[in-house]
Amino acid sequence: MIVDLHTHSAASDGQYAPAALAALAAKRGIEVLALTDHDTVDGTAEAIAAGERLGVRVLRGVEFSAGDYHKLHILGYCFRPEPIRAFLDRLRARRDARRYKIADFLRNQGVEVDLALVERHAGGGSIGRPHFARAMVEQGIVGSVGDAFSRFLDTPEFRAIDTGKPSAKDCIAAIHGAGGAASLAHPYQAELDGKESLEALVERLAGYGLDALECFYTRHTPEMTAAYLELAARHNLHVTGGSDFHGDGAGFKPDIPLARWELDAGWLPDFFAR
Ligand code: AMP
Ligand code: ZN
Ligand code: FE
Ligand code: FE
Repeated sequence: MIVDLHTHSAASDGQYAPAALAALAAKRGIEVLALTDHDTVDGTAEAIAAGERLGVRVLRGVEFSAGDYHKLHILGYCFRPEPIRAFLDRLRARRDARRYKIADFLRNQGVEVDLALVERHAGGGSIGRPHFARAMVEQGIVGSVGDAFSRFLDTPEFRAIDTGKPSAKDCIAAIHGAGGAASLAHPYQAELDGKESLEALVERLAGYGLDALECFYTRHTPEMTAAYLELAARHNLHVTGGSDFHGDGAGFKPDIPLARWELDAGWLPDFFAR
C-alpha cells in the first residue's frame, strides 16, 4: 500500500481544509491517508467523506503532545470518536486557555500579539503555536515563522509555561480505550535530555501498550530509518510512516511534501472492516 499516515489540516495548524488535503493525496497517488491533527479529530469526517469520493482510504487519526518530554508526540489511529471524546474535550479546553497564557507570556517578553489575528489564522480550529507565529509575522514582530519559534515560542522560558499536557501513558490509554492503535511519532524529536535513552523510552511506552513506531518520516536519514526499524523489531512494534505535511505555502513548512511510503497498514484495527 502507498501510505502517508501523518498529516495536518486546517482543523489544526495545516494549510488545507480536510477535503482539499484528501484531494492532494489522491493526486499524489496515495492509497491510505491518515489525518493526524494536533489534539483534534474535527477534520476527520470531512476528510473521510472526501476520500470516499476520491478513492483514497482516509483513516481517522490524531497527534497528541505528551507531557513526559518536550516534543514527545503520540499518533492515534482508527479509534472510535465517542469513547475518546472526553479526553479530546479536555485537550481542547487546555488549548483554549493556553492561548491567553501564550499571549501573557509574549507580553512579558515585550511583544503585544493581536489575539484576534491569531484566532483568524486558526480559523476556528485547534489553536497552536504556528498560528501565533504566523500572526507575529503578519504584525511585523518577526521576519519568519522560524524566527518566532527560535526567539519566543521554542525557548526554555516558553517551555516552562507550556504545562498541563497529558502523559504518554494517558494518551495511549485514551487511544486504546477507543479501540485504536498508537504509534510513537518522529522518535528522534523527543528531547530526552539524557533522562532516559530512546531504547528505555520505547520499552516503557511498549509497556503501556504502544503498538508501533514511526520509522519512516520525511526528516529521517536512511541510517535513522534502519535504526528505528531495528528498534521496532526489538520491541515487537508495528511500523508506521508519515510525512508530517502541513502545507506548501510560506509558514507551513513547504519543504515537507506529502509522502508515499510503501507500507502494510492492514494490521491497524478495523482496517478492513470499513
Ligand atoms: P503546538 O501544538 O501549539 O505546541 O505547536 C506544535 C506545532 O509547532 C507543530 O506543527 C510543530 O511542527 C510546530 N513547530 C514546533 N517547533 C517549530 C519550529 N522551531 N519552527 C516551526 N514550527 C515549529
Ligand atoms: Zn503541526
Ligand atoms: Fe509532531
Ligand atoms: Fe505532526
